Amino acid sequence: MCGVFGAVLPTGSGTEAASVAALGLFALQHRGQESAGIAVSDGDQLMLYKDLGMISTVLDERRIPSLRGDLAIAHCRYSTTGSTVWENAQPTFRLGPRRAIAVGHNGNLVNTRELLDQLAGGRARLPASTDTELLTALLADEPAADTVEALQRVLPRVRGAYSLVVLDERRVIGVRDPFGFRPLVLGRLQTGADEDGLWGADRSSGWVLASETAALEIVGAEPVRDVEPGEMVVLERDREPWSIRFAEATPALCVFELIYFARPDSYLEGRNLYEARRKMGIQLAAEHPTPGDLVMPVPDTGAPAAAGYAEASGVPYREGLVRNRYSGRTFIQPSQTMRQRGVTIKLNPLREVVRGRRLTVVDDSIVRGTTTKQIVSLLRRAGADEVHVRISAPPIYHPCFYGIDTQIETELIAATHTVDEIRDFIGADSLGYLSIRGVLAALELPYDRFCFACFDGRYPEPVPYDAERRKFVLEEEAIGAGRG
Ligand code: SF4
Repeated sequence: MCGVFGAVLPTGSGTEAASVAALGLFALQHRGQESAGIAVSDGDQLMLYKDLGMISTVLDERRIPSLRGDLAIAHCRYSTTGSTVWENAQPTFRLGPRRAIAVGHNGNLVNTRELLDQLAGGRARLPASTDTELLTALLADEPAADTVEALQRVLPRVRGAYSLVVLDERRVIGVRDPFGFRPLVLGRLQTGADEDGLWGADRSSGWVLASETAALEIVGAEPVRDVEPGEMVVLERDREPWSIRFAEATPALCVFELIYFARPDSYLEGRNLYEARRKMGIQLAAEHPTPGDLVMPVPDTGAPAAAGYAEASGVPYREGLVRNRYSGRTFIQPSQTMRQRGVTIKLNPLREVVRGRRLTVVDDSIVRGTTTKQIVSLLRRAGADEVHVRISAPPIYHPCFYGIDTQIETELIAATHTVDEIRDFIGADSLGYLSIRGVLAALELPYDRFCFACFDGRYPEPVPYDAERRKFVLEEEAIGAGRG
């Protein structure tokens, strides 16, 4: 997971594109908390600023005004290839023989080693150890007339998940892989001096690209359409966007985006995600009813499904866990130690609500099981009589190779335990997962629109090498600066 954003403002708008991009990126903080950055162009030169940390820390008010230009891309990172070090923050930047280029990437490539061999016969040295750095180098070094042509030449060799925002001196280009694993949406930015205009001094339009529609709304942009799988959309100043299809589309949007990752106020596949998740809760209640006194969400992401579960079961909905709003999402933290510490600072039970009650606790996923175990334990210590856990997703049996950091099968509790064993491990009185059929019924969309691989092992894009070494493959290749 990562968040990407791109903006092109009309000439002379009087606003820096970096301001728009930073604001849009704030709406995508949930997609990556390890680093943030912006690259801008004033039409002649690219400038880049990035650092480790949350967006508000990295892109503060003093930094933005110095990033001047009408074109910008922005990125927040959650690592799926390479360590959490400054060099691996994005956007990446490379000055090649033909062009300067910056890239923000959401997703994960699966043929990284193969691509490395194509770069200077595998002898190239890269300043970072991410698949994005490698892709940026391939694009910058490609002997093509411009960036669009370079993308057309390079992308057919690239396999895996990529929703990209690419910046050169004159363009922002949005790209989505042929499967469309990760979302990317195009929006029109209403500029102008009239009351509705938020940015700039004239009445012409700017254009933005974002991982989620919620990031369009925050900058006052209207969603226009998704960037299609296998398509690149080119944004230039004072011109309508234009598009090139570089591969045939075989759509396989990550269904986890709809179940959990994307914001509930975002839209994917024409579905508002709060509503989609509420309907998953309704399905879950039908598949796994409980004898509880209260239905309770694990905040915040379990709330829509819990609301649906309560509605369908007729059991009252009540919040019994208070979330520290400033502690971040535990799943997205990079190490197991941080995850374990994260949950205890994140949630606190409301004893008055919990004590003496039979609780149906609704969450959207169990990955490693440790977080759920701690939540059940918190509730029992607070006096709950029974704790029944309901999950608005199927069990995760398989690792993800397309941009979610569940890479090693042994990390996934469902891969090595039965449902009854998981129930015992987390200490719940009962445990029920929503079926794939239930997810699809809630979405009212067909199976073949989505990737369900972590639930059923049917990977749309085969993965050619040892999964367990994948995240640090470029570090193991010892190509990073100072890495030997
Ligand atoms: S494997 Fe799972 S998490 Fe990864 S893209 Fe497919 S559905 Fe999403």
